[in-house]
Amino acid sequence: MRKLDRLGRIVIPKELLEIHDIRIRDPLEIFTDDKRIALRKYRSTDCIFCENYDNNIYFKSYFICASCLKQIRPSEAPGKPVSSRPSSKPTALDRFREAKEKYPDASQKQLAEILGITQGRVSQLNKELK
Ligand SMILES: [Zn+2]
Repeated sequence: MRKLDRLGRIVIPKELLEIHDIRIRDPLEIFTDDKRIALRKYRSTDCIFCENYDNNIYFKSYFICASCLKQIRPSEAPGKPVSSRPSSKPTALDRFREAKEKYPDASQKQLAEILGITQGRVSQLNKELK
């Protein structure tokens, strides 16, 4: 327990500062809800990689701009909602289903030849289909 001094200040225990990598004169942010007041080392809202300050996305305590995010994970960059994205390549299962509809009487061997896969894979896909 710590007491506030006459000016409303409090000393933050040194161990806590060390744990949170806070040094004397570092800027701190103050948050509050109905029950508590929280302090956090201030992090700029600029992109941590390029210091761009526009349209940054908040992720795990850091901000990343859209362009850097795109470079990290091209498929996860924001933009179009998922539903309007052009559909990706059909999966092996899709192609298998199609081939079965087209050649309902084909044997596993024939299906394997049509799809250019092994018979083992055909029987595997057969199971996945059910
Ligand atoms: Zn950036």
